[in-house]
Amino acid sequence: MTRRRKIYEGKAKVLFEGPEPGTLVQYFKDDATAFNNEKKGVITGKGVLNNRISEYLMTRLSEAGIPNHFVRRLNMREQLVREVEIVPVEVVVRNIAAGSICKRFNIEEGTPLPRSIVEYYYKSDELGDPLISEEHITAFGWAAPPEIDDMLSLSLRINDFLSGLFLGIGLKLVDFKLEFGRLYDENDQMRIVVADEISPDGCRLWDVETNEKMDKDRFRRDLGGVEEAYQEVARRLGILPESDQQDIKGTTTLQ
Ligand code: UDP
Repeated sequence: MTRRRKIYEGKAKVLFEGPEPGTLVQYFKDDATAFNNEKKGVITGKGVLNNRISEYLMTRLSEAGIPNHFVRRLNMREQLVREVEIVPVEVVVRNIAAGSICKRFNIEEGTPLPRSIVEYYYKSDELGDPLISEEHITAFGWAAPPEIDDMLSLSLRINDFLSGLFLGIGLKLVDFKLEFGRLYDENDQMRIVVADEISPDGCRLWDVETNEKMDKDRFRRDLGGVEEAYQEVARRLGILPESDQQDIKGTTTLQ
């Protein structure tokens, strides 16, 4: 890992040059941040779990015909991905009110939304990821109208697919965040694909029976049991082989 050239270091991941042109290695850290970097911490074993959870979900999305940047997992903390040009827009899909929408519209947390709501945020740490509209995206040239159409339709398909998948393991998909990138093929044709990661860092997942939070809100709100919650999500997804347990320090629950 240290031999590779570092391309970018974010809050939860590091990107390294990949083994072939057009590829990158995504390294998952245990670092966690919340509230626009105001709260920082370490969730032991999170990187290992998110690497696996994201691998699993991206693979399932590919099987469902939803294009994404994932190629294959390399080891406990790294995965090979296709190099894309990241669209500087975070797409959030909400099914149940939680987090910022509760404050913005004075809605009680847990209120089911009349229908799934898609929101766009401008990816900027400096500005604290402000909520934006399609008008901002096109006027400032962050994405073209057909690219927004692709991001919107992919987000809604992903919401349907993941809502069903999580419901099958007793979890409600309350909301989640997606990032997209432009993938250029050998003929310089471009298509919009899902990038970044899909994990409990960027999703709200509540237990169907108890409404217990199984995601980063445990960290945001100091609820404790953060790594156990991530581990439980992985366990329910059936992706926690016993042989890998020793790498996840500080966690004890086994299948
Ligand atoms: N989210 C994210 N990264 C961000 C902002 C939000 O992954 O920079 C996810 C968050 O985990 C939640 C959803 O997007 O699942 C909606 O987040 P919200 O707008 O409610 O903001 P928050 O309350 O998380 O600050």
